[in-house]
Amino acid sequence: MVGPLQVQDLKKAYANTPVVDGLSFALEAGTCFGLLGPNGAGKTTTLKLCLGLTAPDAGSITLAGQPIPAQAQAARARTGVVPQFDNLDPDFTVTENLRVFGRYFGMGKAEIEARIPWLLAFSGLENKAESRIATLSGGMKRRLTLARALVNDPDIVFLDEPTTGLDPQARHLIWERLKQLKTQGKTLLLTTHFMDEAERLCDWLIVIDHGRKIAEGSPRELIASHIEPQVVEVYDEEAGALEAFMAGRQDVGVRVEVSGETAFFYCQDPQPLLADLARAGGLRYVHRASNLEDVFIKLTGRELRD
Ligand code: ADP
Repeated sequence: MVGPLQVQDLKKAYANTPVVDGLSFALEAGTCFGLLGPNGAGKTTTLKLCLGLTAPDAGSITLAGQPIPAQAQAARARTGVVPQFDNLDPDFTVTENLRVFGRYFGMGKAEIEARIPWLLAFSGLENKAESRIATLSGGMKRRLTLARALVNDPDIVFLDEPTTGLDPQARHLIWERLKQLKTQGKTLLLTTHFMDEAERLCDWLIVIDHGRKIAEGSPRELIASHIEPQVVEVYDEEAGALEAFMAGRQDVGVRVEVSGETAFFYCQDPQPLLADLARAGGLRYVHRASNLEDVFIKLTGRELRD
C-alpha cells in the first residue's frame, strides 16, 4: 500500500542557492512525522513542494497516492493544511468560515452542514458558532484553523508551527486534539520550533539544515544516539562564580557547552560534578535527563538563525 507521503531526492533552489537539497523521507499512516530545523533550513519550502504549491527542480513526491505536482489538486482533496499564520476570514462567523472552506473543497451544502457540528465539538467552539473571528482568543482561532483543515475529512494534515504564539494552556489543548486525530488514523506532518512539542507528538522525525537531512529517528532514538544521557545546567548568577567553578576543571567524559550565563555539562554520570557543585555552594544548578532540544542544539549549533 502506498503511504500518505513519500519524498525522494527532492531539490529546489532559489537564485542558484539550494534551499531543499536532496531530501528523502516517507510518512507512515496514522503517525505524526516531524520536520524540524532552524530558521531558513527549508521546512516551509518542503511543505510547499509537497502540496504542489511550488515546482521542484528535481526529485519525486507522492502525496495521498498522487504524483506531485502533476496531480496536486486530487492530492490536496485528501489533505488538510494548518498554515503558520491564521488566515481566517475576519468578516465571517466561526460557522461561516467552516462553510466557505467546505465549498472551496467542492463539498455539497448538506455534506458541509452535516460535518459542522463535529468540527465545532472537536475545536471546543460549540458556543462560539455564531461569533465573529475578531472576538476569538488566539487559542480559539488556532483550534478553528485546525477544524477548518479537517472539513474535507483528510487522510493527512500538514501543520506548520501549529502552536507558535499560544499560551501553555492553549498549546496543551492543541496537543490533545492532535493526539486524538492520530488515534483516528490520521497522518500528521508537523513543523515546530518547540522541541518539547516534537518530543511529545512525533513518532518519527527528521532534522534538516541547509535543505539536507542531518538526522532521522524517533525522538527517543535520537536522544539515545546523539547525546549523553544526563545534563547538569549551571547558572552564573553572581558574575564570575561559574568561571571560578570551571577554572581548572577537567572532567573526564564530560562535554561542556557554555551559552551566555549557563554552562551545560553533558555526561553519563553526573554524580562527581553534582558533589563538587554542592561543595562549592553559591551556584544554582539543575540536573535533568537530556532531551530533544539538546540533540537539536548539538546538531544545528547555538548561534542565532534569522
Ligand atoms: P524554514 O521554513 O525552514 O524557515 P524556508 O523554506 O522558509 O525555511 O526558507 C529556506 C530558504 O529559502 C531561506 O533562506 C529563504 O530566504 C529562501 N526562500 C524561501 N522562499 C523563497 C522564495 N520564494 N524566493 C527566494 N528565496 C526563498
